[in-house]
Amino acid sequence: MGMKPSSGLFCCAIRRKGVRTFSLSATTASSPLRRSRSGRLRRPAKDDPCMRDRLTKERRSWNMSRIRGKDTAPERIVRSLLHRMGYRFRLHGKKLPGRPDIVLPKHKTVVFVHGCFWHRHRRCRRCTTPKHRRAWWLKKLEGNAARDRIQQRLLRKLGWRVVVLWQCKLRDAVGLEKCLRVQLDG
Ligand SMILES: [Zn+2]
Repeated sequence: MGMKPSSGLFCCAIRRKGVRTFSLSATTASSPLRRSRSGRLRRPAKDDPCMRDRLTKERRSWNMSRIRGKDTAPERIVRSLLHRMGYRFRLHGKKLPGRPDIVLPKHKTVVFVHGCFWHRHRRCRRCTTPKHRRAWWLKKLEGNAARDRIQQRLLRKLGWRVVVLWQCKLRDAVGLEKCLRVQLDG
């Protein structure tokens, strides 16, 4: 309630499940070692698909950085909640700055469901920076956050109310529902 509708920023949550899925698939794709039945790490055979991965470290990092969280578990949580609450919406507003995850034209509101790591959720324990190639990551992640700010400003200029839901807060379904009601009907 204490928040200005114009700022539109409030915390939201993410389910751990979503994050895990993301990081697990990343590990599986890039790791040259596999675990045997006994649980020990072993080198794969030469014809193993893992051995065919000839990407350099840099290229792999770049690939990973291009993976966009589209249709993620956190997004699905918000979507199904909004649907249950009776709101109608469109997905991935392609013509709008920043391609908001959810667009509610009737309420002139857009919703972003942001991962705390990729979008730099300040003062959040998930907002970490990898130690390996730290400077590169820092530049990239801060770049994401700066771009978010620019896009949100543009959206507000176009008359949209911007709601940012953070992954780490999505577990509190009651709080999330309250927040959405205040933002959309307030
Ligand atoms: Zn967070």
